Amino acid sequence: MSVVNEGPALSTLSANVHQGVSQPRILIVEDERALAKVLAYNLQREGYETIVAHDGQEGLRKAQTQLPDLVILDLMLPVMSGLDVCRELRAGEKTRDIPILILTAKAEETDQIVGFSLGADDYVTKPFSVKVLLQRIKALQRRTETATDAGEIIEHLGVRIDRVRHRATCKGQVLELTPTEFRLLETLVRQPGRAFSRHQLMDSAIGGGAVVLERTIDVHIKTLRRKLGDPDLIETVRGLGYRFREAPRVD
Ligand code: CA
Repeated sequence: MSVVNEGPALSTLSANVHQGVSQPRILIVEDERALAKVLAYNLQREGYETIVAHDGQEGLRKAQTQLPDLVILDLMLPVMSGLDVCRELRAGEKTRDIPILILTAKAEETDQIVGFSLGADDYVTKPFSVKVLLQRIKALQRRTETATDAGEIIEHLGVRIDRVRHRATCKGQVLELTPTEFRLLETLVRQPGRAFSRHQLMDSAIGGGAVVLERTIDVHIKTLRRKLGDPDLIETVRGLGYRFREAPRVD
């Protein structure tokens, strides 16, 4: 598949070359123009390069052609919904690892996102303060950076995690995991036998500073156990949280 490089992408590229630094690039997909403008202004002040799209289709196209470091994605968008954009980004080979921060106004949508069924990394409910949004963006970035620095393949009790290919398998079977489930499993498998509190797991898998209920972790663990096909691999540590089984079970 060939990707057409359009004018704006080339001009932002040369701007980077002139400055001699690579600024993190954030794509803002938001149809409320005033809000998009305020976000772009504040992000630029913090040293980010910004790209703005005002509908879902334009957002998807800009994400695919300009490959931003992070996408801020409104859910209620004209032409193509934020949910569809999110799915398309997760399905694309080049875009599947781009962190996505969802902007949502409706409580019911928030519930859906808490399940992380669409593969978003984090969400912020409108109205929000720019300060909070910036904190969440930084938390997401830290998480992505840590992920690229650490070891590449880890394996324990038949569960194998390939960080470079972003692939997890259990006894050779590929596991279909959301980004959050992937990070959660990786955190546990990296240190078998170590007990993690729910809070620690939230920090490593969802990002420090995120306001997420502790039961969210329980929901993710439940899904992970089901996907692993062996409920005993992740053990419950009563009154604390969870750990990955250290030694094989003796039957
Ligand atoms: Ca909207």
